[in-house]
Amino acid sequence: MTKVHKLRECKIYKDRAKMEGLKLNCDKAEGAFDRIIEDYKVVAPKRIAGKGRFSDMDLVSYDMVESLSDIVFNDRTYFSAKSVFFPIRETMFNYDKGCVEDARIEEKLTIIFLRACDINAINIFDTMFLKNGGYQDCYYKRRRESVKIFLLECPRPFADCFCASMGTNKTDNYSVFIRKEENGYAIRINDEAFMKYFSEGAKAKVEPHFIEDDLGALNIPDSIDCSLFRNKMWEEYSQRCIACGRCNTSCPTCTCFTVQDITIEDNMQKSERWRIWSSCQVKNFSLLAGDHDFRILKGDRMRYKVLHKIIDFRKTFGFNMCVGCGRCDQVCPEYIGMAKCIKKINEICIADREEKL
Ligand code: SF4
Ligand code: SF4
Repeated sequence: MTKVHKLRECKIYKDRAKMEGLKLNCDKAEGAFDRIIEDYKVVAPKRIAGKGRFSDMDLVSYDMVESLSDIVFNDRTYFSAKSVFFPIRETMFNYDKGCVEDARIEEKLTIIFLRACDINAINIFDTMFLKNGGYQDCYYKRRRESVKIFLLECPRPFADCFCASMGTNKTDNYSVFIRKEENGYAIRINDEAFMKYFSEGAKAKVEPHFIEDDLGALNIPDSIDCSLFRNKMWEEYSQRCIACGRCNTSCPTCTCFTVQDITIEDNMQKSERWRIWSSCQVKNFSLLAGDHDFRILKGDRMRYKVLHKIIDFRKTFGFNMCVGCGRCDQVCPEYIGMAKCIKKINEICIADREEKL
C-alpha cells in the first residue's frame, strides 16, 4: 500500500541534544536500510557503467537504490534529482468526451540523498511552486509532500562548484545524515520518524562537515547597472552557445515548463494535457503571439538566465536562485561556465562603479 507523507507531520528535533548520532558496521547499516526500503522508495547517486560523456566513462546519476552499497557517496551527479518532484513529462489531466479526469497518482514515500546545495535548491522549488503569486501548484505539492531528505556530505569542493560563495554550502534541513566510513557508516538522525529503523549501533557524536571554501571563490554583485544589458560580453555567448538547453536540464533550480495537449489519434474525443520541462536557452522559448521573439540571440538568452539566477530572483524573493552546484559548467558541450560569467559581470560592475567615482 502506498502512503503519502505530509511534511508537516515530520517532527524534526528542536532540541539538538536529542538528535541521535550512531556508528554502525556495514551489516547493521544495511539491515537498517532494508527496513527503510520496505516503507520508502530511495533515490540516490548511483554509478552507471559506460554511460558517461565518453564511451569509457561512467555516469554518476540519481536512480533508485536498494542497498547502501549502491550509493556513490563521494562523486557529484551529472544531473540533479529534481525529476523526483518535477518529472520531465507529467500528465496533468485526461479529457474524454467533455469529462476531465485528474491524472495525479498517489505518490510512494520517497527518500532522496542530497548534498547541501541541492537541499537549498529544493527551497527554491518550494518558493516557485508553493509560495509564488498566492497559489500552490497541486502537482508539485503532492510529490513534494511524499519526499524526505537524507544529507550527503561533500568530501571536498568539486571542480566548478561555488556553493560557499552562494551561501548554500550548509543546511539543517534533512531527516538523516549518513557518512560512509572505512568499516561502516556514521549516522545522525534529525527526524524522529526514522528512529525506529536504527535500533542498533553504538552511540557517537556525528556532525556533518560542510565545505567552507570554494576552489574558486566568487563575489556576487549586489546590483547591476542597466548598461550591462548592452555590454559586449554577451556577444561571446551568441557565438559559442549551441542552444542545447543542457545547462537548464541539469540545473537543480530551473523550474520552467511548457504545456502540450495531446490528442489520441484514433479517438479525437480523448486527449491528455502534459507538462514538460522547458529551457530558456532553446529556440522559441520566448516566442509570443504575432511571431514576436524578444530573445533571438543566444547571448541574450544567456544574459536572461544568468541575471535571473543571481539578481532578478533575489529582488523578488530575497535570495539567489543559483546554488553554485557547478553542474551547468560540467554539462555544457561548449565549456560555457556560470562561474566565469558571474566573475565577468562582477568585474564589469566594479569597473563601472570606479568610473563613476
Ligand atoms: S545555474 Fe548552474 S551552478 Fe547555478 S544552480 Fe543551476 S546548474 Fe548549479
Ligand atoms: S549547455 Fe552550454 S551550449 Fe547548451 S544551452 Fe547551455 S550554455 Fe548553451
